[in-house]
Amino acid sequence: GNKIRVGIVGYGNLGRGAEASIAQQSDMELVAVFSRRKPESVNVINPDVKVLHIDEAKNYTEKIDVMILCGGSATDLPEQVPAFAEMFNTVDSFDTHAKIPEYFASVDKVAQASGKTSIISVGWDPGMFSINRVMSEALLPEGNTYTFWGKGLSQGHSDAVRRVDGVKNGVQYTIPSEEVMKQVRNGENPDVSKNDRHVRTCYIVAEEGADTERIEKDIKTMPNYFVDYETTVHFITEEELKRDHAAMPHGGFVIRSGKTGEGNNQIVEYSLNLDSNPEFTASVVTAYARAAYRLNQEGQKGAKTVYDVAPGYISPKTAEELRKDYL
Ligand code: NAP
Repeated sequence: GNKIRVGIVGYGNLGRGAEASIAQQSDMELVAVFSRRKPESVNVINPDVKVLHIDEAKNYTEKIDVMILCGGSATDLPEQVPAFAEMFNTVDSFDTHAKIPEYFASVDKVAQASGKTSIISVGWDPGMFSINRVMSEALLPEGNTYTFWGKGLSQGHSDAVRRVDGVKNGVQYTIPSEEVMKQVRNGENPDVSKNDRHVRTCYIVAEEGADTERIEKDIKTMPNYFVDYETTVHFITEEELKRDHAAMPHGGFVIRSGKTGEGNNQIVEYSLNLDSNPEFTASVVTAYARAAYRLNQEGQKGAKTVYDVAPGYISPKTAEELRKDYL
């Protein structure tokens, strides 16, 4: 049949990952990449891919079935997704958990009116981890759910530190507590807040002459991202950053420690071990682009989250194939 026609808005790590993922899908074609930068300055993987200025997107409403929004959560997505939901079905990976309800409302308002379908906050967390938290808790209502992140580089938090005034470049690692992980897997149900399950470590390249004490304070007090965590900030050179912090691995665990019957332990664990966080996130977002298109074809408009999308919608296989070969 006809391929799903996809566009990418914003070409950073995630945008690049989306290009790579779309190339792996037999039922999708990439129509164009849209960027706020000069198109000739954007280096796509496949030189045949069309790169256009973001202002040209409005001319593609009849040529693109779904837009994958790859901007940063801190400032890009809250502006870009409502604007694009007026014209296109969209998928994004907005990951500021505390702001998801208001973000959902602002996208839903636009998409309900335009008749488009926007799946928000897709990826692994939020995303695959969110699904596993809800699923395992529904199966095991008595117990505790634990999410551990890392050790890894957090895209959302690195994005946030790079937007601090005076920061030239920087990365943030999240590291789970080994001790707490062990207790959880043993069914001990330790009473630790998620902040005590992890520490955050930042490696920052400051702009010349910047006040590093003020930068450190701005990072450590940043709402939602850092203020409730034990955070360490290291200042390093651009060379050290390039040499020691260029890879973008990540991963983590969602563990439900439940009890059933007369006190039998039931441990459910979902884990990810990712060489490339943005390439995996983009792979998830691309699979959900298929769902956004299909839901819209069925007339299911408005904002959606991963909780609203049945698994069959993200698979290129038909419902018959899934029943026969996978169930
Ligand atoms: P990024 O590389 O910083 O890119 C963000 C935007 O910055 C791009 O869309 C691009 O927009 C612009 N940009 C990129 N490179 C640039 C350059 N060299 N010069 C100027 N502008 C540039 O961020 P990312 O790593 O792709 O991550 C995007 C978001 O994904 C994060 O903010 C995070 O919230 C989210 N995320 C979510 C999950 C999840 O599990 N849900 C996981 C990972 C990441 P233009 O092309 O328009 O300039």
